[in-house]
Amino acid sequence: MTEIELLIDLHKDAKRQGPGGEEQTKRALELTTIDANEKLKVADIGCGSGAQTITLAQNTQATITAVDLFPEFLEKLEQNAEDLGLKERIVTRKESMEELSFGAEEFDLIWSEGAIYNMGFERGVKEWKRFLKKGGYLAVSEISWLTASRPQELTTYWEAAYREIDAISAKIGVLEQHGYAPVGHFVLPPKCWLNHYYTPMQERFEAFLQKHNNSKQARALVVEEKKEMELYQKYQEYYSYVFYIAQKI
Ligand code: SAH
Repeated sequence: MTEIELLIDLHKDAKRQGPGGEEQTKRALELTTIDANEKLKVADIGCGSGAQTITLAQNTQATITAVDLFPEFLEKLEQNAEDLGLKERIVTRKESMEELSFGAEEFDLIWSEGAIYNMGFERGVKEWKRFLKKGGYLAVSEISWLTASRPQELTTYWEAAYREIDAISAKIGVLEQHGYAPVGHFVLPPKCWLNHYYTPMQERFEAFLQKHNNSKQARALVVEEKKEMELYQKYQEYYSYVFYIAQKI
């Protein structure tokens, strides 16, 4: 199995593939001020197994196009959508966020939780803008520094993992530079990382290792995930995912 196949296998049965929460999805939705009763068009980019897609569908009348690179995740979302009677309003599409086949100004709202880092925040907000109607909203969560300085160990780790990690003010600046009016932001609380992401992942480690006969690659992946988790436990006051909500002007 390749590294990416192992990564998918570790994460595909999880409710979420990144830090987040239903309450936070709803809060970001409220910040957009869109009318939930209108039949709006929404794109959910890097949807994973779609915890937030379901929340968006349940709290609006929107039709949502949910995009991910990996069919394993999309199949989970399709099953959940069907079980919840939301199939009519959730369409899945397997494609890369870097080469979306959307039309110009197709969407009222572009959503992306814990995923834009795959192509980089700046490139994402810049390239996705053309798919938004004028006056449409972008709501993305992005890992960000919460303070101006922090322990070197933390800076070294995250700058190697994600070159674009930066302060909230810098992220807001990027939105402004690319033609968006920022309308709000908020920091995801520790329970979004621990209760909704790391703890359930930790509970899957043993079965995952067994399934893969304790292979070297499977063990390496678990070590990597544990390292990230330990760093969060140690330094959580210095960084988090932050939800950014902005309007295309
Ligand atoms: N939004 C979900 C998943 C976040 S994890 C949640 O919050 O739970 C990041 C997701 O981005 C994964 O599902 C991964 O498969 C997807 N992804 C990674 N690279 C991608 C790409 N180039 N295009 C589309 N999706 C991608």
